[in-house]
Amino acid sequence: LDKLLDGRMLSQKIKDEIKAEIQELEIKPSLAVVLVGDDPASHTYVSMKQKACEYVGIDSLSYQLDKNSSEEEIVSQIIELNNNHEIDGILIQLPLPEHINTEKILELVSPEKDVDGFHPFNVGALTSNLNKNNRFVPCTPVGVMEIFKEYNIELQGKNAVVVGASNIVGKPMASLLLNANATVTVCHIYTKDLKQHTLNADILVVAVGKPNLITADMVKDDAIVIDVGINKLADDSIVGDVAFDEVSKKSQFITPVPGGVGPMTIAMLLSNTLKSAKERRLKN
Ligand code: NAD
Repeated sequence: LDKLLDGRMLSQKIKDEIKAEIQELEIKPSLAVVLVGDDPASHTYVSMKQKACEYVGIDSLSYQLDKNSSEEEIVSQIIELNNNHEIDGILIQLPLPEHINTEKILELVSPEKDVDGFHPFNVGALTSNLNKNNRFVPCTPVGVMEIFKEYNIELQGKNAVVVGASNIVGKPMASLLLNANATVTVCHIYTKDLKQHTLNADILVVAVGKPNLITADMVKDDAIVIDVGINKLADDSIVGDVAFDEVSKKSQFITPVPGGVGPMTIAMLLSNTLKSAKERRLKN
């Protein structure tokens, strides 16, 4: 299908570029991954990230904490990583257990090592479009922007509709699209008539977590559709939020699931970690 936006291929290309740059610079960037508890999906994501780190030559250090760890234990772990000069990036795998105040933990990560871009400093820099060279932007939405760039998809003046308004995907996606001069609408669970909005989209980004949320009748002809959703079905297969078979007939471009946004997220984590390493190791 020549309308497929191939995130797997693009992520491979980016990983190879990162690998070459790390070799050329003769540095060994390092990423600390903090994982609390034993959520199986989190373990899968962490091991995928670590495998990717290994591929490009980033040292990934795993900090596994018990699910019953106290907030103080997590806090002291993060402070230690903030102060450890060997560490370039700190990633707190979400979700944290219920008894932990996630906001407090994310605010504790040094903004200079915040490769996930979740610290309020980095969130503010993105929304105000300041500090472009030194901020970290969340991996999933910035991965979507890389897809737009690779396929020469023009954003300026386009109607972009983002479905889903989380801090991890929807909101930073909307900021990036707005910074790129698109006209942005953000929809969420309380949006009254979702279809009324999605039908207006030249660019439709869906990040909700509901299979078949977006059907062909909700998409205009020749729209560009980005499906961020990852849903595991009863038969263990993985699908997105968009009814791919019917929507792909109408769309100009569409991302597959799997093989679309997912691999780009990991590539951007590597890219952010390299960026931090360059800032910290080469500029001092
Ligand atoms: P979330 O649960 O934090 O947020 C979901 C958002 O969807 C909320 O803003 C909610 O208001 C909105 N929503 C829920 N039901 C809706 C409906 N019926 N209509 C419109 N909006 C609705 O989720 P998240 O962390 O943003 O993740 C969203 C999806 O993206 C999940 O499937 C997740 O697995 C996936 N995801 C994929 C990647 C990737 O790398 N591809 C990365 C992060 C998340």
